[in-house]
Amino acid sequence: MTAAGAVLRASRPNGRGVWLDRRAAFAAATAVAAAAAVTRAVPLWAITGVWALAAEAVAWGLDAGLFGRVKQVRSPREAFVKADGVFTWEQVAAHNTAESAWIAIHGNVYDVTAFVDSHPGGRELLLLSIGREATDLFVSYHPFTAKPAAVLAKYKIGTLATLEHPVYKADSGFYKEAAAAVAAHFEATGKDAKNPYTGLVRMAPAYALALVFFYLAFCADGLHAAARFAAAIAFGVCQGLPLTGWMHDASHASIGHSEAWWWTVGRASLDWFSGSSMLSWRNQHVIGHHVYTNVMGADPDLPVALSGDPRRLLPQQVWASMYKYQHIYLPPLYGILGLKSRVQDIAEVFSKHTNGPIRVNPISTQDYLRQAATKLFWLTWRVALPLYAAGIVRGGLFAALFFVAEFTTGYWLAFNFQVSHVSTEADFLFADQTKRASKECPAVFEDEWAAAQVRTSIDYAHGSPLAAYLSGCLNYQVVHHLFPTVSQYHYPAVAPVVIEVCKRHGLEYKVLPSFGAAIGAHVRHLKAMGVAGQPAELKLE
Ligand SMILES: [Zn+2]
Repeated sequence: MTAAGAVLRASRPNGRGVWLDRRAAFAAATAVAAAAAVTRAVPLWAITGVWALAAEAVAWGLDAGLFGRVKQVRSPREAFVKADGVFTWEQVAAHNTAESAWIAIHGNVYDVTAFVDSHPGGRELLLLSIGREATDLFVSYHPFTAKPAAVLAKYKIGTLATLEHPVYKADSGFYKEAAAAVAAHFEATGKDAKNPYTGLVRMAPAYALALVFFYLAFCADGLHAAARFAAAIAFGVCQGLPLTGWMHDASHASIGHSEAWWWTVGRASLDWFSGSSMLSWRNQHVIGHHVYTNVMGADPDLPVALSGDPRRLLPQQVWASMYKYQHIYLPPLYGILGLKSRVQDIAEVFSKHTNGPIRVNPISTQDYLRQAATKLFWLTWRVALPLYAAGIVRGGLFAALFFVAEFTTGYWLAFNFQVSHVSTEADFLFADQTKRASKECPAVFEDEWAAAQVRTSIDYAHGSPLAAYLSGCLNYQVVHHLFPTVSQYHYPAVAPVVIEVCKRHGLEYKVLPSFGAAIGAHVRHLKAMGVAGQPAELKLE
């Protein structure tokens, strides 16, 4: 066994020791690499590249148990079962690891520790969901089968007495009916709801083009600067396309039927290719945004504080005179979204274990290593290779091309996201977090979760294959929010089925005619919220 292996093995049974050893190992390896780079004994890009691959290899080794297994700590489940426990949300939140995994669903508390390794939907999604009230995650990730509820019943240990975030009313029958209608659609058509190959065929050209444009912008010899900037913009678009396509589906487990698919596709596209973090994205998007869509105080996509945010999106936020101009100054700022995500994962999720109002469960040593690996790999291929290996564009020109590419991806993603929820046509909900301290139930929303998804999501440009391709079918936002585990390539066919069910339940399924109309509704909402005292419910005239 290697020395590093011995250190890791010695530290594994006691989680406290791991971070110190990890920090020491990182520091030592970084010092050696820095010395090599400074003395120019080895090219910088080779050092970062090797460092990245080594970190990933050690993470795999830890997964495979090469350095010894983590000692499984049994949770005192039987004791709680006998006492027929009544638990607070904080007690549930304390059991948020694979060694002791509790989850609250429909007001009951379950100890699913014994189920973590046999969850058919994979270990990672379950570990993200534990330690919290997860009713709507549970329902929306198992829409077409009753089996999970039967399995879950075996693990009940008590009931939940208090809430961290508000809960929705119980399903009135709308979601059950919609799920049955969508299941019937797949039954009748014989199509696979998670077919991964359509995505593969559609996204492969985007990756191929991204590499071509990257080469032209940063590495090709003798190209005019204007042509380089055009290529950098095209690269930015090609970087964004697979993120709303492949990556988004992978994060929702809707591409392929196994965790291996989601994990490989998701990390390849988001972590390795784009330098961001699937773990961070899943906490923000899957655990936060999809459950608490447009709920201020719980949706990480919305402002967290009632004052001081550059955006005023809800009437509950304290008005300031600068908001009069937010429809002018906000859209240009959307370009920084991509760069922000590359920093936020380290600064918030991996350091503070939060993503806005959403708690992040403990992160494994492997995930820290993988985060280091993919960040270094991204810096290697996006910065070190063009600067030091190719050496064609340097200094200010390189920086300008880099930021143009990144801002293009940022705009591409941000406008796609914003028009679907921040709109005159969308509803907003408010969770008063000040009531949290009382340990009382902060609120029960007037809507059931599924109806809230219909009210807070906006579709546009139905029937346009171009809009569907370019947005990753986010122009069918309502279908996506109701059925996140269905591959996006089915949304155009599924939407009419959902619209029919909405009609029967008196729910308005909102579809704007075009992307331009959706942008217009977004800007009008910003304008309306920028005016003091303006109500939120301004509709399109
Ligand atoms: Zn989503």
